[in-house]
Amino acid sequence: MMKLEHIGIAVKDLESANKLFGTLFNRPHYKVESVESEGVKTSFFQTGESKIELLEATNPDSAIAKFIEKRGEGIHHLAFEVKDIDAEIERLSGEGYQLIHQTPKDGADNKRIAFLHPKSTNGVLVELCQEKNS
Ligand code: ZN
Repeated sequence: MMKLEHIGIAVKDLESANKLFGTLFNRPHYKVESVESEGVKTSFFQTGESKIELLEATNPDSAIAKFIEKRGEGIHHLAFEVKDIDAEIERLSGEGYQLIHQTPKDGADNKRIAFLHPKSTNGVLVELCQEKNS
């Protein structure tokens, strides 16, 4: 079973978005983390069993910068937690889903992650994630 781990939201300005969502949830973000390889800076809010991940581009070539350029700020991806990401990638490839990553890579929040191409999933960018050492 896949559990909704977090929802990723692309923002232009992380600092002001942190204030906005912090006020909305009446609770501040609990961490900020940069993922250099992805050219993003992220922050996380706990919302019940799931989280909200805000993503700000740190360079103009990053996927988040391109997303905002094309579609504006807003929901960028849904992330589902899986027990065995390697097995899930293999299973979903076998079912004909197009994967952006054939092998998991390091993501924020101590996770190994892989994305499915939104062409495969009705226009929704889906992230699979697995906690490292789980
Ligand atoms: Zn994510």
